Amino acid sequence: MTEANDLHEVFAVRYAHHDRQSPENFLFGDPHDILQPLAYFVWVIKGPHGTFVVDTGFDEAMAKKRGRTIVKPIADGLKSIGVAPDAVEDVIVTHLHYDHCGNHDAFPNARFHLQDTEIAYATSRYMCHETMRIPFEVDDVVAMVKKVFAGRVVFHDGTEEIAPGITLHKIGGHSKGLQCVRVKTKRGHVVLASDATHLYGHINAGRVFPVTFCVGDVLEGYATIRKLADSLDHIVPGHDPAVVEKYPAAAPGLEKLVVRLDVPPRS
Ligand SMILES: [Zn+2]
Ligand SMILES: [Zn+2]
Repeated sequence: MTEANDLHEVFAVRYAHHDRQSPENFLFGDPHDILQPLAYFVWVIKGPHGTFVVDTGFDEAMAKKRGRTIVKPIADGLKSIGVAPDAVEDVIVTHLHYDHCGNHDAFPNARFHLQDTEIAYATSRYMCHETMRIPFEVDDVVAMVKKVFAGRVVFHDGTEEIAPGITLHKIGGHSKGLQCVRVKTKRGHVVLASDATHLYGHINAGRVFPVTFCVGDVLEGYATIRKLADSLDHIVPGHDPAVVEKYPAAAPGLEKLVVRLDVPPRS
């Protein structure tokens, strides 16, 4: 095997923003009560086996409905690093929350990689409860079911390698079938944690985001992603605005919008 067969470039593409106070980000609140916004991302993995897009974000209509602000529509963010959504063949969906699986028609030629447990959960008895439905949109779930019937969903159960150097790992916790993505890069194994840790502060302090299926599995998930990543600096949280401060822009003009994750972060 040649050296480069399993090494990838990895990008975080920021597309939206939400200002909020820190107590909203932690189960049992936060005594500091400071401004602690969330950033919204999709991620891109480029390598010898093609381009993999991780999650599909939400669109302007959903931003309005949910009171979020789009900073750059995902199609524009992807194009800025040479990714044509029409040409993408593989989309990994970490979970079915509204901020990870919208823009249903953006990838007309892709297959979608999803954990069995996640679609089972999103169509299960738990969705009879308003509290459990909060992070889901029925149109997103229906759109994914339609993709199942169109033969465009690849199901995974647990840990699976989808290309040399790219593995999916079921974490659960935050959503019952949440998966993260581990990618081999020239700086080592990077873990795109998605919502397995929203902010650096969650995994670092053992705290939990309030939207949660199972608190115990969130905490166990922190141990799993620490094992999967080569160091704490190799874990990329799903919603931390610090990600675009720590990593360099993918190209001039993309500062704080599209950053490279396969190079070491500024400490
Ligand atoms: Zn989520
Ligand atoms: Zn999320």
